[in-house]
Amino acid sequence: LFGSREMKILMLGLDNAGKTTILYKLKLNRIKTSTPTVGFNVETVSYKNVKFNMWDVGGQERLRPLWRHYFPATTALIFVIDSSDTERLNEAKEELYSIISEKEMENVVLLVWANKQDLKNAMKPQEVSDFLQLSENLKNQLWCVIGSNALSGQGLLEGLSWISNNTS
Ligand code: GDP
Repeated sequence: LFGSREMKILMLGLDNAGKTTILYKLKLNRIKTSTPTVGFNVETVSYKNVKFNMWDVGGQERLRPLWRHYFPATTALIFVIDSSDTERLNEAKEELYSIISEKEMENVVLLVWANKQDLKNAMKPQEVSDFLQLSENLKNQLWCVIGSNALSGQGLLEGLSWISNNTS
């Protein structure tokens, strides 16, 4: 999928979005779970030459300065959204923008997984995309919203393929 390239991918999202389930479904081998400081849990897992760092965002203003440590040399940002949790969609949007507005993130490709598509009340990927206003706001960045179901795995390889095809 990613050939022999080495790349760093950040996977972020609110708690409960489905990040852990996605990693599990992709059968990524956990190489390390680290806690650099109290209250900030970063999971680092590898998939061939691809290193994933993952953590929850949201309601953690004071920890934000610590995240930056993980931003340099990131190739792709994956942002996972619980498409059924319309109450927290705005919070997710705010967190997403606060991350992608960081200087170090200006060249990353952005994949949004509109997760939990199996749930009846889930917003469709296009609705999530419209809500996030990515086409209006990300004019100089490659981005894509893909529907996913982390339980079945639907949409996961499609997302990773998109990243692979859109990074050099
Ligand atoms: P994280 O906090 O982002 O790591 O989220 P988790 O992976 O722990 O998932 C939170 C909850 O949502 C768990 O109960 C998962 O089983 C469930 N979940 C994750 N992805 C999906 C999905 O695509 N569909 C459904 N129905 N539930 C999901």
